[in-house]
Amino acid sequence: MTIQANQEAVTIEAFINGQHVESLSQSAKENPTNPAEIVGYFPVTTKEQAVEAIEAAAQAFQTWKKTDIEERVTRMRRAIGKIRAAENEIVHLLSREHGKPLYDAHGEIYVSLMWMEFACNEAASALQAQVTEHEGGKTILAYDPIGVVAAISPWNYPIALSTIKIAPALLAGNTIVLKPSPYAPLAAAKVAEIIASEFPAGVINVIHGDADVGVELTTNPHVTKIAFTGGTETAKRIIRAASDTIKDMTLELGGNDAAIFLESFDVNDERAMRRIVVSNFLTTGQICMIAKRVYVHRSIYEAFVEKYIEAANRWIRIGDPFDPDTTVGPVNNLKQKDYVLGLVEDAKQRGAKVIPLGTILDQKVFDQGYYLQPTLVLGCDVHDPIVVEEQFGPTVPILPFDDEEQVVRLHNESIYGLTSSVWGNEENAISVARQLEAGTTMINTAAVQGLDVRFPFGGFKQSGIGREYGAEGIRTYTEQHVINVPKMLDLPYIPE
Ligand code: NAD
Repeated sequence: MTIQANQEAVTIEAFINGQHVESLSQSAKENPTNPAEIVGYFPVTTKEQAVEAIEAAAQAFQTWKKTDIEERVTRMRRAIGKIRAAENEIVHLLSREHGKPLYDAHGEIYVSLMWMEFACNEAASALQAQVTEHEGGKTILAYDPIGVVAAISPWNYPIALSTIKIAPALLAGNTIVLKPSPYAPLAAAKVAEIIASEFPAGVINVIHGDADVGVELTTNPHVTKIAFTGGTETAKRIIRAASDTIKDMTLELGGNDAAIFLESFDVNDERAMRRIVVSNFLTTGQICMIAKRVYVHRSIYEAFVEKYIEAANRWIRIGDPFDPDTTVGPVNNLKQKDYVLGLVEDAKQRGAKVIPLGTILDQKVFDQGYYLQPTLVLGCDVHDPIVVEEQFGPTVPILPFDDEEQVVRLHNESIYGLTSSVWGNEENAISVARQLEAGTTMINTAAVQGLDVRFPFGGFKQSGIGREYGAEGIRTYTEQHVINVPKMLDLPYIPE
């Protein structure tokens, strides 16, 4: 990546076939998190340049697919070492463009590297062809690379949700064209280029822009797989666009993750109270798997709300991402801020009580950026928009429930099914968890605190198709290829 010498703004270019490429488009856009500051520039890639990137990836695939797993792992491990060495610089850039506090930006690198390391350790066995000798002959099940992967990532975890695709795709022998989100493209592009420096030209390409550029990735016949993380509505457009060329897809989409507190939950457990607050407001609530609606058994509801407010007021300190006291930064962009405000306003109009949470560390900073004071919403109906829609921001409704059957029904009514959490007596919680329609259910913790990259992650229903993480998250970048050597070469029922 080319970084301009001044510290004020960072300019990135597309990276195609091992080269930096200036945009031919005039519509360069700035990417401000804080309206008082332009963080950087990324020239929007033209359609012709997107085609060039895809063709470079297609060309590179012809050679890259023939490399052995040892070479791929060795190159990836070197890239991991370089990312580690550049961590502070990357984190600084990520905090600046995204608005997430420094500790949280470090956390994103931590999760990214944990996954990349796991993928390196696991790739050889996950991709090993399985040879079965049986009475009917011999069968080889091979995991072949798919080809050119289009990786389209969102703004909320731009590095983690890019590397979650880059590492397994490359380890499995594919080549890739990455398009980060225009709302946070700088740090993801930097990390992708660090990785690219360890791979042959054309194996990783990075292009920039929004839907106009993304559409080439979803329609170009050279692209054989789309790995997309983002909103459910965008995914529907992508599925339609890709239908003419029938592409393989992994879709990680929205969620409306519920946290369910059973009667057996101890409201005086301060660590658990802190965990649920963090699971609601980490990254200013902008995580797909954050707990977005909280259901509490009516018998403990009032005490729970009281303790929750105390815990939230202790943990939430809203401020500049570079202030070490800050736990909650601004919302990433104005569109998201307005959307969250709209949901809270709608809840108020419907008669809900909205309680502000936490401390604003510096009112002047707060007034300048896309800040929102986190809120707790009480007294809403189970079908209000703030409960059934994904808010993806710093507000959370807490609702009472009367019995397990009711709360399981409320959970499963959602069009989403990404993650959920159940809190209370472990055995009881697991029994409720087994009834929930969700890709991951965490017990007595939630959100990234309960994430385990060794196991598959993904959603039921409109939260997605396919899985990332785990051995599954590597094999998802392959086609299963069966080579069958039957003993009986001619079938007896086919006439001579
Ligand atoms: P988004 O859908 O608006 O954008 C995601 C990416 O898609 C961006 O790079 C964008 O430029 C691109 N894009 C937009 N329109 C496109 C099109 N027509 N063709 C091709 N590409 C297109 O999502 P966002 O606002 O960046 O992210 C927030 C959403 O992502 C939330 O719904 C959140 O739940 C979801 N998300 C899901 C997961 C998960 O793992 N399930 C993780 C993080 C975020």
